[in-house]
Amino acid sequence: MNERPSSVVTAAVFDTKPYDREALQRASANHGIEWHFLDFRLTQDSASAAGNARAVCVFVNDKLDRPCLEVLAAQGVELVALRCTGFNNVDIEFAKQLQLTVTRVPVYSAYAVAEHAVALLLTLNRKTHRAFNRVRELNFSLNGLVGFDLHAKTAGIIGTGKIGRVTAEILRGFGMRVLAYDLFPSHDWARQTGVEYAEAPTVVLQNSDVVSLHTPLTPETRYIIRAETIELMRPGSILINVSRGALVDTKALIQALKAGRLAGVGLDVYEEEEGIFFEDLSGEVLHDDDLARLLTFPNVLITSHQAFLTGEALSEIARTTVANISALAGQEPFIEGSVVA
Ligand code: NAD
Repeated sequence: MNERPSSVVTAAVFDTKPYDREALQRASANHGIEWHFLDFRLTQDSASAAGNARAVCVFVNDKLDRPCLEVLAAQGVELVALRCTGFNNVDIEFAKQLQLTVTRVPVYSAYAVAEHAVALLLTLNRKTHRAFNRVRELNFSLNGLVGFDLHAKTAGIIGTGKIGRVTAEILRGFGMRVLAYDLFPSHDWARQTGVEYAEAPTVVLQNSDVVSLHTPLTPETRYIIRAETIELMRPGSILINVSRGALVDTKALIQALKAGRLAGVGLDVYEEEEGIFFEDLSGEVLHDDDLARLLTFPNVLITSHQAFLTGEALSEIARTTVANISALAGQEPFIEGSVVA
């Protein structure tokens, strides 16, 4: 028999790490949410672990395809609360058919993600990752560490939503020219910040010394960076991707790196990151040959999907997620802009 008051909502939280648990527990005091924290990802095979939860809470690498959603709906789950912005890992149309509500965190800290993109750029360009290792081994030589001034160079920003805009504004602060492309350009913002819009992404790629990707992953943006488009990029340019791995065709990127086409590549996301990123695999054999190859290039810097990881972002993610789960008990409305199905 269920002894809980009817206003208590049970939420199964998949793929959690200590920092997620702390932030969600802190944000949910007095909200009547009973958390079931699970450290594995949600897939068709693990969906039964949701038990009798009314809500499941998931992150970027949980896989909510049709079979998984079917299991959740059959168990009586009513809400899928994503604790991220992108929702490309959920079959939204099928969720609608099943009358599952799907929410995301529409805004948390665009600064967290944009600042990480810039951190990757600065590190790659000035080779501080290599300098750090050298100096620790008492190698004080500067050979091979020559970078370029960002000032007066051109940064190409593809996608000028919340994160793309903050990135553009930071780079304007370095004195860079910013050339941008978006399906829905914001001309007022561009005028105020001195950003120029291009007619097509190809124009951005052809004219930029640094390219940073800030679109969601959609059928149109999948492999926006591939062999033909890398060919358009300026030789010696730097590519940054903190958005979604599949914006970049990894095999084509490896060919371009082997040919010396690019000065540097900074990736916080990788198209096959599921099951690898966020995990400590230091005692295991890496089976992903493309990732293994990428890790051999001195001018490739990879972080493990950590661009969001600031205290401010975690608090805001937890606040929005708690509000959306509480909405099931009728305590609060869903956060504006968060319902995607
Ligand atoms: P947003 O919705 O504010 O902005 C996305 C922009 O992309 C919009 O302006 C949209 O018009 C544009 N866009 C969509 N399709 C396009 C296309 N085909 N061509 C050009 N522009 C297109 O989103 P945001 O908050 O800026 O986040 C962007 C992405 O960053 C998210 O979708 C997510 O995948 C990624 N992200 C990554 C992390 C991380 O930790 N690495 C954290 C948060 C978000």
